[in-house]
Amino acid sequence: MIIAIDGPAATGKSTSAKLLSKKLGFTYLDTGAMYRCVTLLILKNNVEIKNHNHLDSLLMQFQLDIKKNKKDYLFFLDGEDVSTDIRSTEVTNNVSAVSALPVVRKKLVSIQRKIAENQDSVVEGRDIGTVVFPNADIKFFIVADTIVRAKRRQLDLKKIGEEKTIDSLVKEISDRDNYDSRRKISPLFKAIDAIEVNTTNTTIDEQVDFMVNKVKLLIKEKNKYE
Ligand code: C5P
Repeated sequence: MIIAIDGPAATGKSTSAKLLSKKLGFTYLDTGAMYRCVTLLILKNNVEIKNHNHLDSLLMQFQLDIKKNKKDYLFFLDGEDVSTDIRSTEVTNNVSAVSALPVVRKKLVSIQRKIAENQDSVVEGRDIGTVVFPNADIKFFIVADTIVRAKRRQLDLKKIGEEKTIDSLVKEISDRDNYDSRRKISPLFKAIDAIEVNTTNTTIDEQVDFMVNKVKLLIKEKNKYE
């Protein structure tokens, strides 16, 4: 079974997806983190993204591994744990441009399908219900008010020692959403059959309970016809 979770930046997708996967015993795949890993790879190697030959050869060589420890999922790039580095402001500011590159999407979508298609998975991103798994069993599209999202992001950043104003975060989040929604390839939009979940005024527990109930209902329906 595939559960697709899409939506704009900082709406609580990752937290919901992680908890949902835990409650259901499914694998969790954070595709945004994969785009962040490739962005870090490009930055580390000083690759100019318009230099197609250089970019192609870089994308042919790298090794991306995802490992689960007791608490979290860790991302390894060529053997190095980059789970913290991929959340840096530099990566965040460059990830939309990198994820708009067809060659990057082709590579990562193929890895995402390989990881998730043979096991029950919760897959989270921007194009999961529209492009990666258009036949997903259930699709959620998570939205929230921009100010609320900026406040949540501010708290997350504080935990890793970064201070940012609400105004700068509103701009950062809005710019990234605009870029992700307007790009030519796999733009962010709500799949016609996705269930919209607005998390502006809900707690994490409420939103996860809502999603778990939807999935359980679906499983019940499926079992009726099997
Ligand atoms: O989810 P997160 O905010 O970490 O995603 C970082 C970026 O990766 C997004 O802003 C978007 O540009 C890109 N992304 C994407 N497609 C996905 C997941 C993320 O283009 N499926």
